[in-house]
Amino acid sequence: MIQINDRPGRRDFLGRVGAFGVGACCLPTFDMLAAAADVGDPSALREVDYYEPLEGNRVRCFVCPLNCTLSEGQTCFCRTRTNVGGRLVTRAWANPCVVRIEPIEKTPLYHFLPGQSCLTVGVGGCNLRCVYCQNWEVSQSLPVQVERFSLRPDEVVEAARRRDVSTIAFNITEPVAFLEYATDIARAAKASGLRVICATAGFINAEPLMAFAEHVDAFCVTLKGFSEDFYRNHMGVAFAPIQNTLKTIKHGTRSWLEIAHLIVPHLNEDLVEFRRMCAWIRDKVGGDTPLHLARFTPAHKVKDYPLTAVDTLADARQAALRMGLKYVYLANVASHPGCNSYCPRCGRTLIDRAGFDVLRTAMRGGSCPACSATIAGVWI
Ligand code: SF4
Repeated sequence: MIQINDRPGRRDFLGRVGAFGVGACCLPTFDMLAAAADVGDPSALREVDYYEPLEGNRVRCFVCPLNCTLSEGQTCFCRTRTNVGGRLVTRAWANPCVVRIEPIEKTPLYHFLPGQSCLTVGVGGCNLRCVYCQNWEVSQSLPVQVERFSLRPDEVVEAARRRDVSTIAFNITEPVAFLEYATDIARAAKASGLRVICATAGFINAEPLMAFAEHVDAFCVTLKGFSEDFYRNHMGVAFAPIQNTLKTIKHGTRSWLEIAHLIVPHLNEDLVEFRRMCAWIRDKVGGDTPLHLARFTPAHKVKDYPLTAVDTLADARQAALRMGLKYVYLANVASHPGCNSYCPRCGRTLIDRAGFDVLRTAMRGGSCPACSATIAGVWI
């Protein structure tokens, strides 16, 4: 058992509305269902929606395909849910470590209200173990182990309104790990006329996904590789549930969908497998689904791997376009023609970007101004 002693304090958020980044402290290794519960203030606990009680005060969680079984006092693989007296509760509720205003493009979403801002919220914890995680300081921590704010769902909505921001985003860490908090925020946001967007790895069971998607206008799902071996070896989870999530969002919900794919040197630069991935997206999800090819920055367990070469990203983009995907972008690149949007019918430049900033848009509603082709997305 690992005793959690270091608990950076919670800070009041609404008194100091502004842009806030990520704060974190380093942790002992924590990869098993074995941490002692630090339940802290019982009023900040919320019961998990998807679990069942078992004999002997044990519980089984149904949020993600790991379906963890926890004895009393145990905290789960995703680090946010704890069995307290035979009830499964989350410590992620009202405990965000990330609260900041940023462009919607950072999700990344390029076909959803381009040029607008969102209030991004994230909480410590994750149900994957990606070796190259770009936010590992917070994703691989318990919510109570990182510097964080005290912010109820209604206060998140109020913070967005105060800053005149009409979209709330779940990003930076994995929303599946803080699903109860995200759901309550999303409900409050929709009741107030705000939009909700979500970046996720998509490792979630179908029932909670469908319920959550009721309140989410757009998802960006990260497709990290394209084989069971890749996901097992580098993410620590199964691959098939990710494919199910992509198909479910696209064909079973009303949410807009885009896909992100981080290209990491030595791990997934192989164009043969990449083309297989693009063919699957085209055939099973849809060729009009935007695909973002993101640049890797050395981090976490592969700090010695190099930055992804821009030429590698550009070659992959050309390969994806040739496979029939209509909207393929480079992400985490300061400036490149591959960051712009083009009409798939006539080639007219529709949106000019520098990094995540929109410089110019020529869109006419949801259409190309030159040939009137409909451009898939949410534009107003
Ligand atoms: S969401 Fe967390 S507790 Fe639930 S099954 Fe997944 S890893 Fe386990």
